[in-house]
Amino acid sequence: MKKVYIETMGCQMNKSDTERMLGMLSHLGYEETKDSEQGDLLIVNTCSIRQLSEDKAFSQLGVWGKRKQANPSLKIGICGCVAQQKAKSIFKRAPYVDFVLGTHKIYALPEIIERINKGEKVCECTETNTTEDNLAKNFEIKRVKGVNAWIPITEGCNNFCTYCIVPYTRGRERSRLPELIIKEAKDALNAGFKEITLLGQNVDSYGKDFKDRNYRLADLLRELNAIEGKFRIRFVTSYPTDITDELINTVVELDKVCEYFHIPMQSGSSAVLKAMNRRYTRETYAKIVKKVRDMVPDVTITSDFIAGFPGETEEQFEETLSAIDEFELDYSNLAAYSPREKTVAAKWVDKFIPEEVKDERFQRLNKKVQENCLKSNLKYVGREMEVLIENFYEHKGKMINTGKTRNFKTVHIPCDRDLTGEFVNAKITGTKTWYLQGEIK
Ligand code: SF4
Repeated sequence: MKKVYIETMGCQMNKSDTERMLGMLSHLGYEETKDSEQGDLLIVNTCSIRQLSEDKAFSQLGVWGKRKQANPSLKIGICGCVAQQKAKSIFKRAPYVDFVLGTHKIYALPEIIERINKGEKVCECTETNTTEDNLAKNFEIKRVKGVNAWIPITEGCNNFCTYCIVPYTRGRERSRLPELIIKEAKDALNAGFKEITLLGQNVDSYGKDFKDRNYRLADLLRELNAIEGKFRIRFVTSYPTDITDELINTVVELDKVCEYFHIPMQSGSSAVLKAMNRRYTRETYAKIVKKVRDMVPDVTITSDFIAGFPGETEEQFEETLSAIDEFELDYSNLAAYSPREKTVAAKWVDKFIPEEVKDERFQRLNKKVQENCLKSNLKYVGREMEVLIENFYEHKGKMINTGKTRNFKTVHIPCDRDLTGEFVNAKITGTKTWYLQGEIK
């Protein structure tokens, strides 16, 4: 069998696309290898959210390009958001690349492999329509063995936040058909997965684009919850103003749907939110978070923030720090602002914040997130919680099982037996900044 190595960068959506590509390639006689040196086909699945990840992708291609000089039969491909954005120009920068595959065309991979094997150079980066998309997403998935299966339910985004490249690389929002999602979920559960995470840039608007049915995320959750067996369901990411009361009630009512919401706020300042083209103010976000907390006991709410958005003043930045405290956000992903080609904010060069100021704000945000994460964890010390074990490893001579509670807290449990994939009841005995410590009851 030939071997394929895929280097996956960026978000869970890319990880899911990698699984789909591995599924297609297995039909063409390719077996996955985790060692790029062993690969006959090398693919980098790229992310263009930040300049750093884009640079990393090209440096990876450079290394492989050198290897190809010694082994001309080696095939090299690039896919994901950078491929979608840069298309044919990639051949100029990296002439040893055999194919460039955009985010809308992954279903064309088998045909592309056939063509590159005949010596052609191929670029497939145009957008597709919904029918083609559904076709694309119906390919067999070769899931990376594990506990959690990621299932995309929407692709693309209509929000056009002024800093974000996603609407340009992933296109407008399209919902996948519920029957495909349910089949994928059943297949994953039959294969032994214990958790389903529904993925999308904005999962709460799932189904808005269906012309032939009135079917939304809450309906999908109900159908998935009705599948027999013990497993958990999660969904990410939520756009604040799209979270409906019906959805929150569904989380409360359905036993398999976990008490966890990822609700990116991006900035604590209403003025910055307006400049970002986010459709809410600090006050609106506060109301949404309060409602979720009031309705869902023990809920974990996580968020995303950007430090140093163009024009952000020190006072506006401090509003972000105070928002993390005021809304008791349990954890937040952070990024320093990075201008992305094509986006509106990238043109506001005169408002760019100096790198050292951005870095300093990023560090202060990081400290705030750490404090709040610890504070949030402390609430659970002494409690008994159900943990789904995801990993088993050795640390300083001790064997540790790590897993997640329903509300997405990581728990480390010392135990000599590998419990991966099992649900265990743990007594929470202590906490560190990023994780809880527990023992099996
Ligand atoms: S909601 Fe905004 S930040 Fe999120 S993917 Fe869409 S455009 Fe990007």
